[in-house]
Amino acid sequence: MLVLRSLEEPRRFARACRARGERVGLVPTMGYLHEGHLSLIREAKRRARRVVVTLFVNPTQFGAGEDLDRYPRDLERDRALCEAEGADALFTPEARDMYPPSHATRVNVSGTLTSGLCGAKRPGHFAGVATVVTKLFNLCEPDVAVFGQKDAQQAAVIKRVTADLDLPVEIVVAPIVRERDGLAMSSRNVYLSPEERAQAPVLKRSLDAAAALYRGGERRSRVIVEAARSHIGSAPLAKVDYMEMVDAGSLAPVDVLEGPALLAVAVYFGKTRLIDNTLLPDDGVM
Ligand code: AMP
Repeated sequence: MLVLRSLEEPRRFARACRARGERVGLVPTMGYLHEGHLSLIREAKRRARRVVVTLFVNPTQFGAGEDLDRYPRDLERDRALCEAEGADALFTPEARDMYPPSHATRVNVSGTLTSGLCGAKRPGHFAGVATVVTKLFNLCEPDVAVFGQKDAQQAAVIKRVTADLDLPVEIVVAPIVRERDGLAMSSRNVYLSPEERAQAPVLKRSLDAAAALYRGGERRSRVIVEAARSHIGSAPLAKVDYMEMVDAGSLAPVDVLEGPALLAVAVYFGKTRLIDNTLLPDDGVM
């Protein structure tokens, strides 16, 4: 497996692959890889002969006071995991190369895709995400890129950017990978104390309670959201940041569910912020 660091290398790699008739898949990550990330690499491998994993803790998607400085990192372990999954290249650029002092462009998605959920709670976050993903697409020139349903709003934003800017990349969304007790895998789970970790499966249980109401015929958002919220209340260390029902396409708030919806939750355990979501009906991915 190649380890690429300079901005010129991944494009050269992709063009050499395509000259041989090989498709190139991309899996963007911030590293500290877990089984969720590895499932994306496997999905990319199914769709492309060559797979490039990017590892970049993107400073522009972190707000002031967020965890940029303490975000967990272990390059050697990540390199070994990528290689074991059959990735062909790991691209890990430096922040000073991605964002030289002269860098002044932001890709900004406006409207309901970014006005609610994490977009409301983390101002500037999705502009940072859209900017770095656009740059990674331009640098790596993939045919297909794989993202996780875990970050459902991110996936929706990236699909919009790709369509609006006519980027020649197919976007694939892969299902959420969970621990045995239901907690969605996340690099941030390592922040949790043993007590917080024990209570963290409450996110998934709250979404399951909502899905059960939905299956029973309930279509009023307020009723479903309140039931899910009260579930979170059973975990004394959990503080709800948001619990919102939105249209699965536009991410605009919905009062009565008439089409596919997304129930998304963000919860603080101490300083650690966890997110999770389910589609209603619960049929997998966006
Ligand atoms: P991150 O390194 O957290 O920025 O995530 C990189 C990619 O992995 C994103 O597309 C995430 O949605 C995806 N991802 C993170 N956690 C999971 C998970 N538990 N299951 C599936 N995909 C995930």
